Amino acid sequence: SSEKDAALAATPSDGPTIFDKIIRKEIPAKVVYEDDKVLAFRDVSPQAPKHIVIIPKLKDGLTGISKAEERHTEILGYMLYVTKLIAKQEGLNDGFRIVINDGPKGCQSVFHLHIHLLGGRQMNWPPG
Ligand code: ADP
Repeated sequence: SSEKDAALAATPSDGPTIFDKIIRKEIPAKVVYEDDKVLAFRDVSPQAPKHIVIIPKLKDGLTGISKAEERHTEILGYMLYVTKLIAKQEGLNDGFRIVINDGPKGCQSVFHLHIHLLGGRQMNWPPG
């Protein structure tokens, strides 16, 4: 898939990503939720009728979940809670899926931690 190609081509780094530009409103995004700690917006390449990306505004070294340290536990828990709020806001009352891709084998292409919220269709298991 193109996502897989993008993930394999991506170089993990701690530098700025496209998500910094979205946080700074330098490029447009369809924001569905925002507060002082997190931002959530619709994925440009949706893999389900509802596909939302939830990110921390302060990356603080969290290029991906594999870089999590104990100091990140509060924001990580908060991001999960916000994901639930958004699922409700989006009307995903019959179920949804959340995904965190990590590293090349996890198909991660943007190195700023993010949760994918997917819903609006029947999910399958195992994922690809
Ligand atoms: P993958 O590309 O394999 O899904 P990630 O888990 O790193 O890897 O996800 C990054 C996500 O960010 C992708 O789903 C991609 O479509 C999305 N994305 C990239 N750029 C933008 C953008 N400008 N606005 C919204 N979503 C974006």
